Amino acid sequence: MSHSDQKLIFQAWNPVTGCSKFSSGCKNCYALPIALKLKQQGNIHYKNGFEISLHQDKLAKPLSWKKPKLIFVNSMSDLFHEKVPLDFIQQIFNIIEQSKQHIFIILTKRAERLFKLSTKLKWHENIALGVTVESKHYLYRLKLLQQIQAQTRFVFFEPLLSLIENIDFAGIHWALVGGESGQNARKMLPEWVTSIKNQCRQANVPFYFHQWGDKRTHDNLIDGKSHLEFPQSWLNILENSPKQIQLSLN
Ligand code: SF4
Repeated sequence: MSHSDQKLIFQAWNPVTGCSKFSSGCKNCYALPIALKLKQQGNIHYKNGFEISLHQDKLAKPLSWKKPKLIFVNSMSDLFHEKVPLDFIQQIFNIIEQSKQHIFIILTKRAERLFKLSTKLKWHENIALGVTVESKHYLYRLKLLQQIQAQTRFVFFEPLLSLIENIDFAGIHWALVGGESGQNARKMLPEWVTSIKNQCRQANVPFYFHQWGDKRTHDNLIDGKSHLEFPQSWLNILENSPKQIQLSLN
């Protein structure tokens, strides 16, 4: 387990944009208003607003980034949305295979489709695959993730909407927790966060606390301390990363 003194900064890569609401964590989806605004501003990649759109011209982008980056695949969509064709997902995975200098973070709420397609995809070493578990009702996603042969598997408890007990962390390499942000943010209770932190400690899983989300001054501190742990295997790439990476949404 490793600890960083600063928040991880991801480079977004959006060969797919657009999505549709799927579960309770989507209620205040951050991507929807951004997509609509970009459409209004005439951004060509958002001419369909929040409809699923495939962008061939974005596919090769990671090949042009020579320095190692943590790349968030589809920050403006969900790669396993039912309208994203398998062959396009496979093209994305081909680029990942050719971009060994980077780590690609793939996060989905659509664990059923992920599981269904998982044997048709090559789980390259530089992929970290995660599912969102926003409340105890979605723990089944973790069970599906545990059956997929990705080298790094993680669980994203954000926006955390309930107490989640008895989490089975077998085969899980990283856990992130965060509250909802934005105007209509739903409240996250401190005891929900502490419970996951303690369960991670017991299971020896790195625990990364992202945010309370409610605009308090020290938004990522628990009892005055930051908890920014990440998988040991990432140490090299994080040390080599530029300290500030511009987050690009388009
Ligand atoms: S899955 Fe993600 S991008 Fe899609 S609607 Fe839900 S929160 Fe938004």
